Amino acid sequence: MQNNNNDYNVFALCGNNNIDLLENQVRQFKPKFCVVYEENNANDLKIKVKDTNTKVLSGMDGINFIASHEKTDYVINALMGEIGLLPTLTALKSNKTVGLANKETLVAAGDIVMKTARESGSIMPIDSEHCAIYQCLRGEENNEIDKLILTASGGPFYGKNKDELKNVTVDDALRHPTWKMGKKITIDSATMMNKGLELIEACHLFGVSPDDIEIIIHRESIIHSLAQFKDKSIKAQMGLPDMKMCIQYALTCVNNGKRETSQCKELDLTQIKTLTFAKPDDETFIFPELARYTIKEGGTLPAVMNAANETAAELFLKEKISFLDIFDLVQKAVLEHKNKKNPSITDIINASEEIKRHFITKFA
Ligand code: MG
Repeated sequence: MQNNNNDYNVFALCGNNNIDLLENQVRQFKPKFCVVYEENNANDLKIKVKDTNTKVLSGMDGINFIASHEKTDYVINALMGEIGLLPTLTALKSNKTVGLANKETLVAAGDIVMKTARESGSIMPIDSEHCAIYQCLRGEENNEIDKLILTASGGPFYGKNKDELKNVTVDDALRHPTWKMGKKITIDSATMMNKGLELIEACHLFGVSPDDIEIIIHRESIIHSLAQFKDKSIKAQMGLPDMKMCIQYALTCVNNGKRETSQCKELDLTQIKTLTFAKPDDETFIFPELARYTIKEGGTLPAVMNAANETAAELFLKEKISFLDIFDLVQKAVLEHKNKKNPSITDIINASEEIKRHFITKFA
């Protein structure tokens, strides 16, 4: 965005905690609106930017207001957690293109979101794996997908067994080998729930069955994912790990698949020399297979897994539970949930909130 200033106009920004960064961005991009989810933080920002023409709003009303505003045509949803669901639906219903970096939208309510996107608006995946698959599938519209292969870095605990994970700390879990990301997604990466969520997203985005998605460990994060066709030919998308490339592609490709020059560093394969691949350890890192189970079962189950994980990751970050507790709590929540098939958005939100409440009272 900073590098393509003339082609894009920032109409509104949204954030929550990092008020200093938001202030800088307001001054740089001069948006009409800036939404800060929590009212206290919004009031802080209001004071900081009172000399500008940017109006500061707050709450879910504020987010939905900018997501559906007639002056916008593209909404990037990079909210963290299930809170991203309603703004995605609002934007789609208002016929916007949604650049989706919020995983939980499709995990919690993929059927409803994809149905909405077929009726109005459209979705462009920003997550590196789905952006990669999207690129691999371009030009293959008439070909059946044999399977999709999602690559996983394996996170900071790759190669460790359950015993070795007993005493890992929050700091250990936040030390991701390749990607620098927010705290919750870094924990998801350490537990491999991240890959479970991505498996569910891929089923919805590309219309493939859960059994036609394979997950492989690829420590170097150079191949961002692959698609295999029925002649067993495989296409891969590669590049140095840099989210700027995915974000830019999601923005430019709506313009007939166009690519623009970027500031991203060039990949030198002779420097990398070796790319490695391995099967994941499903016995220690149970989440990808648990996610596959929930998407097969459908209903409210994927949303419940997601909500349980969201809350468990938060409890771990607050040091209220151990790293291994995350696995136990989420698995238990999934196994004990009374699944509701063909749920409405309200059913999904209720099921998620119930599980969050349950965890929070339990660990208060
Ligand atoms: Mg990813």
